[in-house]
Amino acid sequence: WSSKNFPWSAELDKTLQDVFQIKHFHPVQLQAINSTMSKCDVLLIMSTGGGKSLCFQLPAIISKGITLVVTPLVSLMEDQVLNLKQYGIKAHMLKADSSMDDVMEVYDSMKSPNPQVKLVYVTPEKISKSKQFMSHLDKCYKSGNLSRIAIDEVHCVSQWGNDFRPDYKMLGILKRLYPSTPIIGLTATSTNKVTFDTKQLLNIPDCLVFRTPLVRKNLFYEVRPKPTTHQKVVQDIVTTIQENFKGESGIIYCISCRNCTDVCNSLIKSGIRAAVYHARCSAKKKSEVHQQWLNNEIQVICATVAFGMGINKPQVRFVIHHSISKSVENYFQEAGRAGRDGKPSLCLLYFGFWDVFRQTSMVFRERTGTENLSKVVKFCHNLKTCRVELLANHFGEVNEQCQSPGMCDVCSNLQKTTKKDVTEPCKVLLRLIKSNSMDGNRLTGIQLVDAAIRDSKNRKTKWKDLSRHEWQRIVFDMLVNGFLREDYHLTSRSTIVYLTYGRNVRFLLNNKVMLDLHDNIQQPKN
Ligand code: ADP
Ligand code: ZN
Repeated sequence: WSSKNFPWSAELDKTLQDVFQIKHFHPVQLQAINSTMSKCDVLLIMSTGGGKSLCFQLPAIISKGITLVVTPLVSLMEDQVLNLKQYGIKAHMLKADSSMDDVMEVYDSMKSPNPQVKLVYVTPEKISKSKQFMSHLDKCYKSGNLSRIAIDEVHCVSQWGNDFRPDYKMLGILKRLYPSTPIIGLTATSTNKVTFDTKQLLNIPDCLVFRTPLVRKNLFYEVRPKPTTHQKVVQDIVTTIQENFKGESGIIYCISCRNCTDVCNSLIKSGIRAAVYHARCSAKKKSEVHQQWLNNEIQVICATVAFGMGINKPQVRFVIHHSISKSVENYFQEAGRAGRDGKPSLCLLYFGFWDVFRQTSMVFRERTGTENLSKVVKFCHNLKTCRVELLANHFGEVNEQCQSPGMCDVCSNLQKTTKKDVTEPCKVLLRLIKSNSMDGNRLTGIQLVDAAIRDSKNRKTKWKDLSRHEWQRIVFDMLVNGFLREDYHLTSRSTIVYLTYGRNVRFLLNNKVMLDLHDNIQQPKN
């Protein structure tokens, strides 16, 4: 597929240079283009900024008829249509407020073998809901003028992905209605499960799948133990920014709107130009903030996950997670907004005890299952395996690791640790859960750690000097190993997460538990 001897190869090269003024293809682009030009169905998985759009825009220009492009957001369509206009290519979008003239021009083009409009952008709702549009699309297909269908952010069809859109699911009818029109689906993120699901739902089980390497060598991954107070976390963030990223752009992902505001205010007090972006901001405020950030008038955006799709700023030097994400996919995609220009960038995550239970209770309420979240906890809790390797493995790629001198905290030895025998503290925690439950008290993670600290001080055990952070690390370890598990209690207002015995608790009867504890934090005196 990377050959240059297809009937269209000469025209392809010429259009690439003359229209797009691009000299060389990025990896995988040529293969994807040749495949879709050969009328194969294609799934293209490429990190954001890799140049996915070119893979359907270029074929659209050198093919007869029109290309239908499905995108999830009107703002994404607007960006692309505007871009194409600058290249002198006629593209239109059909949206709720399109003028009658525009609509007629599109419908005329759909009838014509040599259409004026080469690309027609729609949201998935047009296909699932507009009979009028579909009847024009039928005619377009029947007269042989529907040359290709491109589906952007194609992972939205799968419930296993993180951006599931019910209207995307309907897109499966396209292949049934128009079997001879090739489909090209594009996405930046995809686990094997999502890829499989996507192919099935779109009725393209035998499509060709192209993907660029997942691992971006310019990103440094670091997980830091989260300090216990808001003030200390923010101080750490401010120091990180001021020492390494003076005047350079970044994003801070926070767990809630409230959190965004708190972090943002603290940054501003420290003289950093920051603004918030979350679900409660008006559309106008959002686009203002986004624009100011693009223009470098704002240095840092404090955002919830609402700040995501459609963001394409190449020079983002850092993405900081003030709290953990709810899945590894989410984390990888959010962190991946750093360094799209290929220059060294930092992906820093603060791993906090409270955040985990906050996040589990949110995930539990959304009924999406806590399995994804527990993988994030494992990823963060780990202090021994290369983070890049863990991420690559998660997405089904083996033999990936960071190159020396190391592009993660583990390989760069930022985490100074010593292995300790923590069998006794584990047993202390289990005893506390048991004795409390006999008194009718169930304990949350925070209450359990408090109880352990009180208990070991009162009894003057050798564990009395174990810090809060170390107790928390032991609790995580017990969760990860199944010595403890979460037990959810729904009240009318919230979900309380209690801790209780896990299924592997028997392991503790006659085995030792060894755990890496941080060196820079007090150790128990023996
Ligand atoms: P994606 O959809 O994968 O996030 P885009 O299609 O928006 O990425 O492309 C990102 C940028 O890269 C665009 O400005 C595009 O013009 C540019 N681009 C695409 N392919 C190439 C290439 N082969 N060489 C140089 N620039 C490219
Ligand atoms: Zn590493």
